[in-house]
Amino acid sequence: MTRIAFIGLGNMGGGMAANQAKAGREVMAFDLSAAALEKARGAGCTPAASVAEAVKTADAVITMLPAGPHVRQVYAEQVLPNAPKSALLIDCSTIDVESARAVAKQAKDQGFRFADAPVSGGTAAAEAGSLAFMVGCDEADFAAVEETIQPMSRATIRAGDHGAGQAAKICNNMVLGISMIGVCEAFALAEKLGLDGERFFEIASKSSGQCWSLTSYCPWPGPVPTAPSNRGYEGGFATAMMLKDLKLAQEAAAKAGAATPLGSTAEGLYALFDRLGGGGKDFSAILELLRGKAPAA
Ligand code: NAD
Repeated sequence: MTRIAFIGLGNMGGGMAANQAKAGREVMAFDLSAAALEKARGAGCTPAASVAEAVKTADAVITMLPAGPHVRQVYAEQVLPNAPKSALLIDCSTIDVESARAVAKQAKDQGFRFADAPVSGGTAAAEAGSLAFMVGCDEADFAAVEETIQPMSRATIRAGDHGAGQAAKICNNMVLGISMIGVCEAFALAEKLGLDGERFFEIASKSSGQCWSLTSYCPWPGPVPTAPSNRGYEGGFATAMMLKDLKLAQEAAAKAGAATPLGSTAEGLYALFDRLGGGGKDFSAILELLRGKAPAA
């Protein structure tokens, strides 16, 4: 039986580890939170006392941690000194490209195979096993990465070498953040011009304004019943998470010398909305800011 060490059992990792157990794999799980560990036990995982214990006999190590510093620390201090060299190491956290490449280099220098494999899709997709994975790894390792990820995935795509998965993730989410603001500005203007929101949706969704933010995730309540706008912008993809990804994109752009003026403006607007108390709302609630309203409590 494949032995998976799963580190980081939060909103995303909890569901992902459960799907590995459901697929019949032996999952040794660790998190700093005792409550998360208990939940993992209930989902068929075996709680470990430490990262070191979780990884020591693993065929594959999967990490789902908050940010770059956590990933750097957990790999340098716990995973690399304790996992068998044969273990395939996969970090699914969303982190900066530089940290992903640094951890990959450390791992490779010590004889490990490593992949950065951030995900698209929220907690519902993590629970359903239907996340999309963007993978940065050596080409020779991709088949093994894909096979390990399979119980958690609806699509796994190799973006390129180490760091390319993280690059794909932040570029994709920069498109998403910018396009959502564009759609929200259009609804705010339509409203001021006396144009009915539903009618505008009907027209724009069949015209050149059509995009995912409009037709799959419409920020105006009504036209897309599954969108968070119909439930007070609760659930979905939190503004604070979008802000994290836009910051990563801006840091990467500054280091790479890329011009991303709309990405920078989007970061500023989400930061303002976050400061006004909208951080926990779905990111499409930025419509409220553009309509001149404070985020609803
Ligand atoms: P979370 O805060 O709910 O979970 C992170 C978990 O890591 C926590 O349970 C925490 O206790 C644990 N942790 C932190 N340091 C640790 C350590 N040293 N050892 C063991 N466990 C440790 O976050 P999340 O929502 O699950 O997100 C995880 C990652 O996935 C982030 O990088 C996030 O950007 C990314 N992501 C999240 C979503 C989403 O919708 N929530 C979507 C896509 C990607």
